[in-house]
Amino acid sequence: MARVLMVFVDGLGLGPGGDFNPLITAPTPGFRSLLSGFPLTLETVGSPGGPALLLPLDASLGVAGAPQSATGQAALLTGENAAGLLGRHLKGFPNRALKDLLKEKGLLGRLKGLGFKVVFANAFRPPFFSALAKGTRFFSCTTVANYYARLPFHSLEDAEAGRALYADITHENLKEQGYPLTIISPGEAAARLAGLVSTHDFTLFEYFLTDLAAHSGDINKIREALRRLDGFLGALPQALPADTLLLLTSDHGNIEDMRVRGHTHNPVPALVWGADRMYFRELTAITDVTPAILEYLTWGN
Ligand SMILES: [Zn+2]
Repeated sequence: MARVLMVFVDGLGLGPGGDFNPLITAPTPGFRSLLSGFPLTLETVGSPGGPALLLPLDASLGVAGAPQSATGQAALLTGENAAGLLGRHLKGFPNRALKDLLKEKGLLGRLKGLGFKVVFANAFRPPFFSALAKGTRFFSCTTVANYYARLPFHSLEDAEAGRALYADITHENLKEQGYPLTIISPGEAAARLAGLVSTHDFTLFEYFLTDLAAHSGDINKIREALRRLDGFLGALPQALPADTLLLLTSDHGNIEDMRVRGHTHNPVPALVWGADRMYFRELTAITDVTPAILEYLTWGN
């Protein structure tokens, strides 16, 4: 048996170390515990001995300009060069062409079609469900991929009951917005996600506070976004079923360079943990992620 947990983190690049890189200046014991004590920076690539494999993935895909979310996420979730297809990097939400691509080649739908048990672990607030029913707002690539896979979306009731995870990890943002959920620690969030992982072949979780915080340029928001992610990631290895392959990756850089208030041209990390991590050692670009997961779940075990 094997199962995959994909943690998609928006705006987390793999950049050089320096006092401009919060992955050096903020405490990240969780990341470091997977990387022999080293930080999540470009210099750590190739350091032997840690329980995780760290690879730099190209996010530019041969297209000029800074990588963006819609094309980057579509590339991650389909294995196709979405930016090349459009001839540019597209910000934010997928357009019709990218929606069609996600409908035809989305990882979630393809895995489901192959008979795998698939879950998009994120929980959503009530306004999401009314907008989804009416089609009245823009949706991210992960949402579109899940929609076309005809898979369910989880509610805040699911999150409160531990059957799903809200995108802020700890419910603190929800609480600020007036939703009466119990605040949980990043470690508890990891334990809850591990519960979902244990009953599925493929689990996807999306975290985007990294990109939002980095766009704000506010160091306190950046440190808080990293604190939650780091605590969550650091707790996952103890919580996950032993046959899990954990792959954390991103669509483009942002938070790793405070000198730039926007997306960077850095590669993004593929941080791969699990007994079979070397299966993924040849990943070189974000377009390699979907084919590798499909191949691993089909043939790798
Ligand atoms: Zn962004």
